[in-house]
Amino acid sequence: MCARYKEPAPIKDHLNPLDSMMERFSEAAEKLGLDESTYNALKSPEKSVAVSIPVTMDDGKIQVFEGYRVIHSANLGPSKGGIRYSMSVTLDEVKALAAWMTWKCAVVGIPYGGAKGGIKCEPRDMSQGELERLTRAYTVAMADVFGPEKDIPAPDMGTTPQIMAWLMDEYSKIKGVSSPAVVTGKPLVLGGSLGRVEATGRGVMVSARSAMGKLKMNPSSATAAVQGFGNVGSISAKLLEQQGVKIVAISDISGGYYNPKGIDIEEAMAYVAANKGTLEGFANADKISNEELLELDVDVLVPAAMEDQITVNNADRIKAKLIVEGANGPTSSNADQILNDKGIMVIPDILANAGGVTVSYFEWVQNRLGYFWTEERVNRRADRIMKQAFEAVYDASIKYNVNMRIAAYIVAIDKVASTMRLRGTF
Ligand code: NAD
Repeated sequence: MCARYKEPAPIKDHLNPLDSMMERFSEAAEKLGLDESTYNALKSPEKSVAVSIPVTMDDGKIQVFEGYRVIHSANLGPSKGGIRYSMSVTLDEVKALAAWMTWKCAVVGIPYGGAKGGIKCEPRDMSQGELERLTRAYTVAMADVFGPEKDIPAPDMGTTPQIMAWLMDEYSKIKGVSSPAVVTGKPLVLGGSLGRVEATGRGVMVSARSAMGKLKMNPSSATAAVQGFGNVGSISAKLLEQQGVKIVAISDISGGYYNPKGIDIEEAMAYVAANKGTLEGFANADKISNEELLELDVDVLVPAAMEDQITVNNADRIKAKLIVEGANGPTSSNADQILNDKGIMVIPDILANAGGVTVSYFEWVQNRLGYFWTEERVNRRADRIMKQAFEAVYDASIKYNVNMRIAAYIVAIDKVASTMRLRGTF
């Protein structure tokens, strides 16, 4: 790594995957020949807001919560990014996740910058009333940060469409106007978009199809393993199966389920729906561990559970020819080289799972239009964006002779940096 890119990332509390992101950012910046001043400008967020939020709890006591909103970049447009409710929230984590959103929006070419928010709390231990008061108080504190043309939040870990509905309602009351476009991920009746629930998994499927085309892999004779069976994993599996891919293994927190003859994904989804949200006890498959699932001899591997699953400890045992990252940060940066050397194509998170933010953008567009699209239109437009983004990243990987991950960062950084240059500075 070039000396001028060696400054430590502003992330201390997470070794992975956030440090991983900064390493890749630096590598892509170097390949792109990004000048030092632009690199420095992009390394730090534009704005970080920290607030203390006093909330009366159900027992009558006042509890004070830490809340954050970080705008990493608003060069490409209003900033976009989720709000996380978790005890692990820190300002440093929110800063890094905000930068991640900048790259994700830029790589798919939607006119948004990147942001992230968070409140340090344990939502599972809070009543609905406490969550509502906390959300409304946070919205009041951030009323001048948020805005349909400024900064648009969305759900993330620990937050739900209901929480987005409270945020939208409180913001609309403060401003004295109905403002559905201030937040995405709302319930459908409040201006949510058709297709949003399936959007991320759909984008994973579209990316996988594009990559299979480049690898001359026929979906009808391909096999896949999918780690995680929540929103992203189950939808990715279902849609890949519809493309003719045989899904031989799935998994969730209860472990992995393997059947070389193929797993019926609709059946597995129905099982989970009727079984308190878990695959525990799923029949017609052999029980394996999540670690074993990652190392199966399949054509396609979709990590769609959580971060840091493919590391230096297991990368050399991965047999898939194609990895499509449904989750955020499932591969640590030091595993990249090992996968590269094995000739495995990795479609990185900032490209593969960007279908979700793309349809969030469509939700915002529809709210501003006051006119709602059919699901078919949402899917068609999202598919087109995902395909175009894949091709742009693929072309960059050839032009710069880099893997798809660094190519995705190159595309994103180039877009944001050239906008910065055009807009100028003080
Ligand atoms: P989810 O909560 O719906 O599902 C998570 C799944 O992972 C569950 O099946 C859970 O049992 C499983 N899981 C948890 N820990 C596991 C472990 N140790 N091993 C195996 N499985 C485990 O979450 P989701 O919305 O599907 O998100 C999954 C990933 O995709 C996350 O990294 C998230 O940040 C990312 N992502 C989600 C979206 C979206 O629109 N939902 C968009 C972009 C990225």
